Amino acid sequence: MRHCPDCHTGQVIKKGSNATGKPNYACNACGRQCVEDPAWRVISDEINGIIDRLLHERISLAGIARAFQVSESWLQAYVNEKYRQVPREVRVRSKKGPFDH
Ligand SMILES: [Zn+2]
Repeated sequence: MRHCPDCHTGQVIKKGSNATGKPNYACNACGRQCVEDPAWRVISDEINGIIDRLLHERISLAGIARAFQVSESWLQAYVNEKYRQVPREVRVRSKKGPFDH
């Protein structure tokens, strides 16, 4: 059983197929749709937070992708999206981390 990566409450159910014959899936709560694709795997908010912290530590994308067993292309897209939404904010926030001495 898969839970929706967007709303985390709905279940992802099979819903017909697309033009290329691949099965379509949709969330029964929020209606988000996708085709079966490893890039659309469930990443929890907790994991997202850990990935963010690793990015702040300047660990390479390839290293993070291996650690979390996600594709580098997925991670790159995730980072691109994130930095597009909050330009420069990351740097300001990382100044006073709980692990700073
Ligand atoms: Zn949903």
